[in-house]
Amino acid sequence: MNELAGNIHIHTRYSDGSGDIPTIAGAAEKAGLDFIIITDHHHLQGKAEEGYYGKVMVLVGSEINEECNHYLALDIEQPVPGNDHHPQEVIDMVNNQGGFGFIAHGIEKGSLLYRNGKTYPWNDWRATGFTGIDIWSYLSQWRDEITGIPKGFFLYFNPHYAFKKGPMKPLLRKWDELLRKRMVVGIGCSDAHAIKLKLGPWRPVLSDYYLCFRCINTHLFVKEPLSGDFEKDKAQIYQALKSGRCFVGYDFFRKTTGFNFVAKDQGKTALMGEKIRLTEKTVLEVEVPEAAKIFLIKDGRKFRETMGKRSRFSWLGKGVYRVEAYLPHGRGHRAWIFSNPIFLE
Ligand SMILES: [Zn+2]
Ligand SMILES: [Zn+2]
Repeated sequence: MNELAGNIHIHTRYSDGSGDIPTIAGAAEKAGLDFIIITDHHHLQGKAEEGYYGKVMVLVGSEINEECNHYLALDIEQPVPGNDHHPQEVIDMVNNQGGFGFIAHGIEKGSLLYRNGKTYPWNDWRATGFTGIDIWSYLSQWRDEITGIPKGFFLYFNPHYAFKKGPMKPLLRKWDELLRKRMVVGIGCSDAHAIKLKLGPWRPVLSDYYLCFRCINTHLFVKEPLSGDFEKDKAQIYQALKSGRCFVGYDFFRKTTGFNFVAKDQGKTALMGEKIRLTEKTVLEVEVPEAAKIFLIKDGRKFRETMGKRSRFSWLGKGVYRVEAYLPHGRGHRAWIFSNPIFLE
């Protein structure tokens, strides 16, 4: 398996972002990413510019819907019309084209400093057929932490503070609830726009591309090394995302490349997103690139806790297992890695 790091949910000048695709690809290459996924609102205008830019692959999907129920549609050839009130129709139209998709920023708190607390949540959790959800979202979580003007200034200069504790707890709870019924892939999103503000002589940029590309990334595992053949490599990336062979990492303080979580049983291995039959010999193995605090989560609850670079868990019961890793930072720890689950059946 070959690990690739990428950033998902990016807006360009084709919608409400401020950068063009070559500039954004340049920022991704500088950040050391292998791929980025552009999702401008409603259309696929950037599709003609898909391809390799140096070492970075640029893939183009679309973010659908306006006031609520934002859906990231990937691997589609035709734009899908929005339907704020019936998101199931949007999901179905994407699937009918052979595409797949993710619920974006499904739960938000809002900030009084942004349109008086306006949020863009997912309202219809009875919907089915979506591939996964965005479990950790840069722009919406950063904005939601702005509880006043001083905090806004603080978070502008200290953006990483907003992500110290990890994804929003209600979103993780919702994910765990969905996982009790079926595989729902968790991805990280930036929603990078590089919004350019004018505040007197000051020109702050919110959700700057290069900054976002070093924070919440989705790392995935592809079977073959990248070949340079865009269509072939794109198919591998989409396959890994669809099956959940991926994890979400906060790469700023220490890159998360090198993480792995697998189940093993008498010569058989299950990767993230897969299931394996439980026997008394089944073990779960976790590897992190730097010694960290590891939580093994079973059916949404903390089940075991260890510290180190490699952990091995045995004597497990049937259930849905995922891993959270917290990196030592200052006097405490920072949220660092969130794996996709493995199902022991
Ligand atoms: Zn959105
Ligand atoms: Zn967006």
